[in-house]
Amino acid sequence: VVVGIVMWRQPPQHQEWKGAGTTAHFYEIILGRCYTYTQIVRPELGHKDCQKIGKAFTNAFLSKDPCGSTEQDYQPLMELTNQTVPCDKTLLWSKTNELVHEYAWVQRELFTLENTLLGYMGDGLRWCGDLGSSEMNYQSCPDRRKDCSNNSVSVFWNTVSKRFAEDACGVVHVLLNGSVHNTFDERSTFARVEVFNLHPEKVHTLQAWVMQDIRNISSDSCSDASIKNLKLILSKRNITFTCEDNYRPIRFLQCVKYPEHSSCRSKI
Ligand code: NAD
Repeated sequence: VVVGIVMWRQPPQHQEWKGAGTTAHFYEIILGRCYTYTQIVRPELGHKDCQKIGKAFTNAFLSKDPCGSTEQDYQPLMELTNQTVPCDKTLLWSKTNELVHEYAWVQRELFTLENTLLGYMGDGLRWCGDLGSSEMNYQSCPDRRKDCSNNSVSVFWNTVSKRFAEDACGVVHVLLNGSVHNTFDERSTFARVEVFNLHPEKVHTLQAWVMQDIRNISSDSCSDASIKNLKLILSKRNITFTCEDNYRPIRFLQCVKYPEHSSCRSKI
């Protein structure tokens, strides 16, 4: 008599976190984005090895504690994705995600982090692994406020933002939001990471463009207390700071969306 033992294959049991899980088809998305970027967006990077880059990306977090992520985990990925941004062409941002990318789409020589290979690959995605499994956790990932700040996604953005700022030279621009409570928010990646990793020997000036919501224009934001704080931090770091309210070329972009608004109706 043969006694068959039925073995149920259990789905991998992952730890449960408070944030949403890994983006479905994460690996296919990053691989596709890598090829799109290196073959079509910037063909001068056509020699990059996307298979290797994709593996280095997932090796940075698979089989690891998603709350114990470190800069070192991402070092192999960083080494495979180095890229030069020309001087004067770095564009930082905080609380202006949509507007800054509309502007960078038009002013194609400017680079936001998301216009570089690694920022392009990771933008808008979520990912994490698990110490007890070699698979991605599609069920849940650490929430940066409710679970841990050194999660695999936050550490990735801190690491790539740091390199992006370190590599910058000449005049660096930043697009800030004059219609939020803290235009220069000390907890933002721009404040915590990017400002402190600009090299004063290479970056002589940080120029801020502070844009207000066109439907809600108030007094000028460059005189805001949080901007004074940014100016003080930069003067201590020997970087000149200039600030311009409602920079006209970007105002035009806002006017594309709200052409009937009073501040858009004057003849150019
Ligand atoms: P912000 O507060 O507008 O945040 C921008 C986006 O990044 C938001 O979607 C936010 O949820 C996310 N983010 C910010 N800090 C994070 C963290 N620690 N962990 C996970 N996600 C985080 O502006 P910011 O914080 O100043 O970041 C924008 C600047 O930093 C830009 O200059 C850019 O170079 C870089 N950055 C980009 C991204 C991105 O998602 N593309 C994320 C972080 C940082």
